[in-house]
Amino acid sequence: MSVETQKETLGFQTEVKQLLHLMIHSLYSNKEIFLRELISNASDAVDKLRFEALAKPELLEGGAELKIRVSFDKDAKTVTLEDNGIGMSREDAITHLGTIAKSGTADFMKHLTGDQKKDSHLIGQFGVGFYSAFIVADKVDVFSRRAGSAASEGVHWSSKGEGDFEVATIDKAERGTRIVLHLKSGEDEFADGWRLRNIIKKYSDHIALPIELPKEVAATEGEEKPAVEWETVNRASALWTRPRTEIKDEEYQEFYKHIAHDFENPLSWSHNKVEGKLEYSSLLYVPARAPFDLYQREAPKGLKLYVQRVFVMDQAESFLPLYLRFIKGVVDSNDLSLNVSREILQKDPIIDSMKSALTKRVLDMLEKLAKNEPEQYKGFWKNFGQVMKEGPAEDFANKEKIAGLLRFASTLGDDGEQVVGLAEYLARAKEGQDKIYYLTGETYAQVKNSPHLEVFRKKGIEVLLLTDRIDEWLMSYLNDFDGKSFVDVARGDLDLGNLDSEEDKKAAQEVAKAKEGLVERLKTALGESVAEVRVSHRLTDSPAILAIGEQDLGLQMRQILEASGQKVPDSKPIFEFNPAHPLIEKLDNEQSDERFGDLSHILFDQAALAAGDSLKDPAAYVRRLNKLLVELSA
Ligand code: ADP
Repeated sequence: MSVETQKETLGFQTEVKQLLHLMIHSLYSNKEIFLRELISNASDAVDKLRFEALAKPELLEGGAELKIRVSFDKDAKTVTLEDNGIGMSREDAITHLGTIAKSGTADFMKHLTGDQKKDSHLIGQFGVGFYSAFIVADKVDVFSRRAGSAASEGVHWSSKGEGDFEVATIDKAERGTRIVLHLKSGEDEFADGWRLRNIIKKYSDHIALPIELPKEVAATEGEEKPAVEWETVNRASALWTRPRTEIKDEEYQEFYKHIAHDFENPLSWSHNKVEGKLEYSSLLYVPARAPFDLYQREAPKGLKLYVQRVFVMDQAESFLPLYLRFIKGVVDSNDLSLNVSREILQKDPIIDSMKSALTKRVLDMLEKLAKNEPEQYKGFWKNFGQVMKEGPAEDFANKEKIAGLLRFASTLGDDGEQVVGLAEYLARAKEGQDKIYYLTGETYAQVKNSPHLEVFRKKGIEVLLLTDRIDEWLMSYLNDFDGKSFVDVARGDLDLGNLDSEEDKKAAQEVAKAKEGLVERLKTALGESVAEVRVSHRLTDSPAILAIGEQDLGLQMRQILEASGQKVPDSKPIFEFNPAHPLIEKLDNEQSDERFGDLSHILFDQAALAAGDSLKDPAAYVRRLNKLLVELSA
């Protein structure tokens, strides 16, 4: 062993300690995945070296085939992984193996409950990586040297996976990383060639570079120990270059876990080869679960980019729109140059046409999933629906396609689950219905009981119920679907078109005429508070309702804008009353102007409350109501 200098002991970042603890307790039934994780890292390290060596061939230090070697020592109870990839400097080892760089990690860790069963599901959202070594090892030694640096600048990192780790500077002749796992007692089954070979075949067959194990060679007579011969145990070719028909589902799934650093199988994937003017292959995956940092601005997104099989960059964001940022995968282009940069990607017209083709592939894949596996799609929607709702605003060209993938709660459901697609809605629409009706609001409970729905309930017309914060904004980008326009039932003068019979319409006109006097009286009483007063034909049970003007901002948008400190143009609601309601009849017969005024203001405020709005002058409302109550009990 070489001399160790500058030895120091450092503490793990708190989050690392939490992650280690969580992992060891979550993964005890699936210990063997440690090898997959370490091989995945080694393969990434080789990819990085291969790429950096394009510009600096000297990093290859005279060649040698790029590979990963896995060996073991039954007596010492160790498993060793060695790669000749990019390697780590002392500083690299301290930051990469002592901290977690992912943004939002601390927040994520706050979700831990301490209940191991519940918490073990969270690990899937996080991914495990290097620290999985501690599932089977009670001590891990890492020897590494960054490619291109002097042999004297190697690092030895060592930890028992408890609170701290040691680093020392060492001499290391070969670049790259060697990891020695000292197996926990009871885990020595992993120090076995047969076992290791099986694990590699199972999880890492798709790794594009050779993974070698020592060949079992019988000792020849007179020799103490035979020289080690190595043999490649994986297929060692890039998965996406193989024909689809020859790739098993399991291979696609394992490849996904490698590139996505995910722990669960993907929901779906799409593998394609494009030939012609542009030549590229793509393999795109829909994850089963949203990562914890989906809404973090700096969270990793984008595809792994290869140029003619050479890894070029991670998180290439230019190939998919933002609302598809959860898609994982690789794209391998024959047309791009190997020294392509992020800046070039942003401007290259080739990328634009690839982006629109890849976007379409993803949307097609989602359509297929929705059609063939509706239960799976429900899960997808729960995880990624909010992000998909950003689509129509960002991707005008695919608006109709995206709209078809949206899912909503509706008056036909009773739990507020977002499961109704627009095609399904239209397929079961009433005869003569040529609109898609929807209502937005703060909460499901509020919209479900909204007076705006009364006439729809009476006529048996389904209304979509939209309560996500983004919904009103989303609807401002959707005008129609399948030729049918969207109608906000809380907005304007509700026209049910063909759904109202001629008699209904005539009757409504007559009532409106008969109530002209009341309308005028209410206008005077409510004054500046309203834009208009009119007879309603959308109410059956409630006395009155506030409708939003056709061009005015909805309540939700107004609240969002106000919360962000923006000035919102003042808009006044339209007061609609139900002429058949006993309270309105009473109002119509009220002789005293004072009581008429009080009662109409109370009705106005109640309608605002029912719409989920707050009152401009709550004290006045209470005063008026109490006055009425006193009179009532007098
Ligand atoms: P992740 O791979 O998700 O980034 P890991 O915990 O698995 O997280 O690894 C942390 C970092 O340590 C890697 O991103 C890489 O920079 C470094 N690393 C791990 N293994 C190796 C290796 N074999 N060679 C070089 N660097 C490595």
